[in-house]
Amino acid sequence: MTEDDGETQARRACPICGKKSAPGFGAFCSKRCADIDLGRWLKGIYRVPTNEPPADYEADENNER
Ligand SMILES: [Zn+2]
Repeated sequence: MTEDDGETQARRACPICGKKSAPGFGAFCSKRCADIDLGRWLKGIYRVPTNEPPADYEADENNER
């Protein structure tokens, strides 16, 4: 085993399409893929709301430092 893999490890594959990531787009190959990931992330947060509020919401706030 040699440790010559520094270069290949520096370029990670885009998590969206699997292409090489580009400098300036973080882990992504292009702004398009970055936007796709951002969209997925936002959907995870802004899920279609149900009518039931989280029961422990206030308790959580009190736990803040
Ligand atoms: Zn991509």
